Amino acid sequence: MNFIYKGSCLCHRVTFSVNGFSEKAANCYCTMCQKFHGAAFGTLVGVKGLVWNSGYDLLKHYKAHNGTIRTFCKECGSSLGFRVKNAPIEEIELAIATFNDAIPVKIDAQIYTRYRSNWCHLQSDLPVFKEGRTAPL
Ligand SMILES: [Zn+2]
Ligand SMILES: [Zn+2]
Repeated sequence: MNFIYKGSCLCHRVTFSVNGFSEKAANCYCTMCQKFHGAAFGTLVGVKGLVWNSGYDLLKHYKAHNGTIRTFCKECGSSLGFRVKNAPIEEIELAIATFNDAIPVKIDAQIYTRYRSNWCHLQSDLPVFKEGRTAPL
């Protein structure tokens, strides 16, 4: 059985569905995630079988100074996704909080915690990486 998981932006004009996820995902405290999501950290997840059901023409893509690309809804501003430099839209990682219902993803790490804001506390039950996953505490 192939489950379908649906998500959307805040204004619901952009909607999408996927049928699978990367098994693990990290809460990322890097400065760019903080700015992009307007939050203490961003959580993005790799997806399988992505279909844009509506609003594909409302997607706006921002290329940052390091070449990474962040995608958002140009109507409501919702932060939707992230791509590494030069990656096509098909390889987008989606902001996990844009899914409508429960999804089978386990957060297994906290990364780029060096950039964490003073007012936000890390979770005590997850591994901490000051930079990316390859650079442990
Ligand atoms: Zn929107
Ligand atoms: Zn980040």
